[in-house]
Amino acid sequence: MGADIGVIGLAVMGENLILNMASKGFTVAAYNRTTEKVREFIEGRAAGKSIVGAYSLAEFVHQLERPRKVMLMIKAGSAVDAMIAQLVPLLEPGDILIDGGNSHYADTTRRTRELAEKGLLFIGTGVSGGEEGALHGPSIMPGGNPAAWESVKPIFQAIAAKVADGTPCCDWVGPEGAGHFVKMVHNGIEYGDMQMIAEAYSLLRRVAGLSNAECAEVFRQWNQGELDSYLIEITADILGKKDEETGQDLIDLILDAAGQKGTGKWTSVTALDVGAPTNTIAEAVFARLLSALKEERVAASRVFEGPEARLEGSRAAFVEGVRQALYASKICSYAQGYQLMRMAAAEFGWELNYGGIALMWREGCIIRARFLENIKAAYTQTPDLQNLLLDEYFAQTLNSHSKAWRQVVAQAVLHGIWVPAFSSALAYFDGYRTATLPTNLVQAQRDYFGAHTYERTDRPRGQFFHTNWTGHG
Ligand code: NAP
Repeated sequence: MGADIGVIGLAVMGENLILNMASKGFTVAAYNRTTEKVREFIEGRAAGKSIVGAYSLAEFVHQLERPRKVMLMIKAGSAVDAMIAQLVPLLEPGDILIDGGNSHYADTTRRTRELAEKGLLFIGTGVSGGEEGALHGPSIMPGGNPAAWESVKPIFQAIAAKVADGTPCCDWVGPEGAGHFVKMVHNGIEYGDMQMIAEAYSLLRRVAGLSNAECAEVFRQWNQGELDSYLIEITADILGKKDEETGQDLIDLILDAAGQKGTGKWTSVTALDVGAPTNTIAEAVFARLLSALKEERVAASRVFEGPEARLEGSRAAFVEGVRQALYASKICSYAQGYQLMRMAAAEFGWELNYGGIALMWREGCIIRARFLENIKAAYTQTPDLQNLLLDEYFAQTLNSHSKAWRQVVAQAVLHGIWVPAFSSALAYFDGYRTATLPTNLVQAQRDYFGAHTYERTDRPRGQFFHTNWTGHG
């Protein structure tokens, strides 16, 4: 009997996905460009399992049941095009090619179209949850050629993470690059979540004066309520960790300069391209860029004076305020991510299942969180919800949390504490809930210097006016 699916790429993600598939009863063929890794895998972690190794692409393709299902788990970018070019002559119409790497959605759209012309069915899928997720149950976000979905669905849904009622965190996302698009937005949201948690931590340490151990306990408590999520859980663990060498809190020994692999940047660039105001997500990317200027910041800290951070009022009330500010900011960040998906779907002609996306993120992935159930519920109730903020639960939560949120951001600003994500989320909220913005002045300025025209409040939309502002001919 042939293999149910073949996986190319035996780095950490590919190996773990193969072991996950084998553990669910599938027979998997495994290939890697450097074939020495195939031997190591087959003789090592794959030994005794329903996994067969291939030492050439021809052998690999020969091992697969028809229609063949080939999943690439290799470095994103030109490597994927190169591997597809080698595979195409070996495949037949109706065969399915899947890219499970972190590819850019526009590449996936292009590949779906190019391969469809050759009769091959292409899927580009987001896989989230890191190496642990790949092994035990990732969140899987497939998009591409819908004709491929029925063949791939039993395998993907078997290996995916499950929510409490057994529903898999994997469903069809949409056509072309929709799966990779949703994975990209997931990563952008992840940037926002991480930055907001770091800001909360900074406020607890520097304004409330809590020790790392006390902060860990606060995060542990927060994880019992509406903030319940993987990132809050690991933050509590991180803050409680001691350095084995020195015995100090490890967090205090970690350099404050963040790296990135670029998916947050992709989200922000795409948001600018489609006109979606994802300012909190973009701010989280800029925050990493600013953090990376470590030497400059150290030098600048000697030049500039800042206010002294000190607690005003009760510590318990401040800590609770930070919790509310964090939750309210998080809601705005997710609202921005969803707004981006909505605007992109309109631009690309995709139909996306927004509630289903929340469910796919509910378990398995890095942003898994209890409140995704509220997002799912919001879209179940109102499938064409314009903005998540307008859902009854989220609107009520923002109304009840906004006072504390404002106080926390105001105190942070007064004390000179860096809270770009908290404050940009609040700016998004205030902008979104304001019926009349001062942008009338921007329009007037544009018309003044560039004759860009403007619409009038006392005339129907779509009529444009120009004024001779200076009176000169
Ligand atoms: P990776 O380090 O991104 O890539 C290494 C794999 O790519 C190796 O199997 C390597 O083969 C292969 N490769 C590189 N260039 C190639 C080429 N030109 N032709 C054929 N094969 C080539 O591996 P990874 O961390 O396991 O990630 C795999 C994919 O999943 C990536 O797209 C990554 O972005 C995505 N992803 C990773 C994570 C994670 O937590 N690591 C999470 C989600 C998604 P050789 O052994 O021959 O060099």
